[in-house]
Amino acid sequence: MFKTFLIKYGEIGIKGKNRHLFEEALVRQIVRALEKTDGDFHVYREQGRIYAEAEGLFDFDETIEALQRVFGIVGICPVMKTEDKGLEELGNDVIAFLTDVYDMKGKTFKVDTRRARKNYPIESMEVNAYLGGRILDAFPESSVDVHTPEIMVHVEIREKIYIYSKIIPGPGGMPVGTNGKAMLLLSGGIDSPVAGYMISKRGVTLDATYFHAPPYTSERAKQKVVDLARQIARYTGPIDLHVVNFTDIQLYIYEKCPHEELTIIMRRYMMRLAEHFAREKKCLSLVTGESIGQVASQTMQSLAATNEVCTMPVFRPLIAFDKQDIVDISEKIGTYETSILPFEDCCTIFVAKHPVTKPNLNVIRRSELKLSEKIEELVQTAIETAEVIHIE
Ligand code: ATP
Ligand code: MG
Repeated sequence: MFKTFLIKYGEIGIKGKNRHLFEEALVRQIVRALEKTDGDFHVYREQGRIYAEAEGLFDFDETIEALQRVFGIVGICPVMKTEDKGLEELGNDVIAFLTDVYDMKGKTFKVDTRRARKNYPIESMEVNAYLGGRILDAFPESSVDVHTPEIMVHVEIREKIYIYSKIIPGPGGMPVGTNGKAMLLLSGGIDSPVAGYMISKRGVTLDATYFHAPPYTSERAKQKVVDLARQIARYTGPIDLHVVNFTDIQLYIYEKCPHEELTIIMRRYMMRLAEHFAREKKCLSLVTGESIGQVASQTMQSLAATNEVCTMPVFRPLIAFDKQDIVDISEKIGTYETSILPFEDCCTIFVAKHPVTKPNLNVIRRSELKLSEKIEELVQTAIETAEVIHIE
């Protein structure tokens, strides 16, 4: 019965000349998502609507799941698409549709016709009345309820006629590719994959940077981050993941700076390096999974100290989220199980027993001066030896 899906998208903020950019980006993302399924689809725009039509066999559930990962989609409607062969045939089609999808016994319904093709000879209200009568005849135990019907029968009259009643929710947001690119600092934790997901949901394309510290962090810890990148790429599209060897920088900071300032200084170097790759990849911002107060390095003072070294905007979509809310999203998007695998992170291997929670900027800057002899060279080496993994 269903070969075609009507894609509904939000219209806020996409009026005027931005609208076709939004729609074209959405079509591109739908095509990309459906290419990964077993089916072949023709995706097309018609009169401010987007449709995906299967050509041949496809898996219904797999198709819905793929579309539910496309930002910008607010609803997915499986539609029955028919030719215009007059009102009586339309009535037959609507009855066939309802027979297939519902047990109409005891159900209330309403018919909602939209006559988008104005040369259709019959007014919408008249079509509603006719189809309502036909449905009552076919299913005598059903009844009409115009206010809160259990089943809303949508009939859209265009070049073809589209009949649908179910609207399966999409993720919302904006299509990836409509809002520039950002560099995500991606660790193996719970937060940063969620932060990347959230920024991307606003239409932002992502690249990512991961700092590891071999041999203190293992190959499996790195693999975990690659896996996380792959999981969020199902929503965001391809990601270039920069894997940066941070060991020598960390050891040098450890050698030269007060240990309670280690984390802050280390994080400042992470931001500087991430910003370097961000520039190289034409990203317009950095993204982290930080949240106020979560750990010592995320107090307001610590965040200010980390932020100071960045010249690009740093977006922290989780800044005011409680941990449980972040966990809920990570479960929903499928990163949680990977995030909780117990591998070491470079942030946790050299931590001090009592890290500063209210770093003083002047003190931190002064401590960093102790690195002046070798740090530039180490940063340069980290940049030159970074590995870029392309993730589809
Ligand atoms: P997450 O769960 O995302 O690892 P976290 O609660 O462990 O976060 P921190 O370790 O303080 O918090 O890290 C804060 C943010 O800094 C992370 O969300 C991430 O954006 C970035 N970050 C931390 N460690 C790394 C790393 N090894 N590589 C890249 N980014 C990192
Ligand atoms: Mg972490």
